Amino acid sequence: MADDRFHVYDTTLRDGAQQEGLNLTVADKLALARHLDGLGVGFIEGGWPGANPKDTEFFRRAQTELDLKHAQLAAFGATRRAGVKAADDPLVAALRESGAPVVTLVAKSHDRHVELALRTTLKENLAMIRDTVSHLRAEGQRVFLDAEHFFDGYASNPAYALEVLRTAAEAGASVIALCDTNGGMLPDELADVVHAAVSTGARVGIHCHDDTGCAVANTLAAVKAGATHVQGCANGYGERSGNANLFTVVANLQLKKGFDLVPPESLRDMTRIAHAITEVTNVTPNSHQPYVGTSAFAHKAGLHASAIKVDPNLYQHIDPSMVGNDMRMLVSDMAGRASVELKGKELGYDLTSDQSRQLVERVKELESRGHTFEAADASFELLLRDTVTGERRRHFSVESWRVIVERRPTGEVASEATVKLHAKGERIVATGEGNGPVNALDKAVRLALEKLYPELAGVELIDFKVRILEGTHGTDAITRVLITSSDATGDWSTVGVAENIVEASWQALEQAVTYGLLRAGYSA
Ligand SMILES: [Zn+2]
Repeated sequence: MADDRFHVYDTTLRDGAQQEGLNLTVADKLALARHLDGLGVGFIEGGWPGANPKDTEFFRRAQTELDLKHAQLAAFGATRRAGVKAADDPLVAALRESGAPVVTLVAKSHDRHVELALRTTLKENLAMIRDTVSHLRAEGQRVFLDAEHFFDGYASNPAYALEVLRTAAEAGASVIALCDTNGGMLPDELADVVHAAVSTGARVGIHCHDDTGCAVANTLAAVKAGATHVQGCANGYGERSGNANLFTVVANLQLKKGFDLVPPESLRDMTRIAHAITEVTNVTPNSHQPYVGTSAFAHKAGLHASAIKVDPNLYQHIDPSMVGNDMRMLVSDMAGRASVELKGKELGYDLTSDQSRQLVERVKELESRGHTFEAADASFELLLRDTVTGERRRHFSVESWRVIVERRPTGEVASEATVKLHAKGERIVATGEGNGPVNALDKAVRLALEKLYPELAGVELIDFKVRILEGTHGTDAITRVLITSSDATGDWSTVGVAENIVEASWQALEQAVTYGLLRAGYSA
């Protein structure tokens, strides 16, 4: 169990799930809870039992299906309704019976919200807080209080906002989390209010939204002002601009401020966990996300490359391995020999200076014709291998290919592709059908090669991007195709460039299959 002096409180399953386009099943929530527990957070807010049937089911299944090593589950819910006893309120009963050791009660702390949204008196709101907190405490649960709209409330009526905090603390709430519900705060002003709240003697937490782009900065400012409980969401999920990114908050506090929040080995697993979570949420990972994004330590070096080669830490704020990330060199037309050599080393090749000069020339020439190697690591590696071996070695050679696109009388559009290949001394002809020309070609190539290379069955084309590039030197526009493929252990990208979109796709496809075969252990 985590140290109680400082709380890392995750609300991905409740507040993060408010993100537009994010829909979680109960099984998804259980999977996310396991990942978050693996990171070592102290608390996982599972949802609102009683108000939402899916969340009720989550807490029921969590009791038998979750075996948490670090985290405790928290059930989220509101204070009792006006004019009834907490003990008689069915929604409070659902919290009590959730099986969660912690209940986080949301309460109004903004006088105008009490009167206009809750439609009760300021006095009754305080009674609702006092009664609900003390009832749940008496029933054996730990209680945290989310003081909703606290900062706007403090601006409107500071005495009342602090009265809410005092009332909850006196009734037995062990943490009062101050919520910047509208996300409009900036660090300086927020810190002043946190300071005033801490001065009451209550234990204070912080819950920030990112509407000013300051959710993480605000969270850190609150900690500096005395908050000892931070709330946030995995990958910064949340409605509007999102919640404070819990990964950034944890990494900042642990690596920059010396807090001991999660085990160092879990921190070193953070990049993997962040990506595993995107697999569950089906939200495209943000490659620029601090610490864990694939671009977080990617250098488009050029001028800097030779210095990076000597000491990478001159150009990085931390050693990326501390959060399980890697430095990456991007090969671009700005690149010089040093970055090509570095990239070669990253891929496990030691280039002679002659080879790296040749490779740089080749990269520059291809990039001037529209190729991009920054987004096509696998194409670069094939080019590098060709340079090292001095020849273009492939598992198969192409005699010809043909694609037909047909609009049938029914209105359906279908494609059929035929490829003629030579591999392992055989001439193979195969035909594939698909919903488009690239899909048909992909199927035909696999069909042709799968008997010789059964591992190809596990290779999948997962992304296909087309960009029309303006022609240079008076030529027509050309098409660049980027294909991303995956197998059981990872993914790779390849690039093709041609005037004809199908030819560009074919080039990228041919390299994708070749690279997939290399990964499967077949040397060409
Ligand atoms: Zn919130």
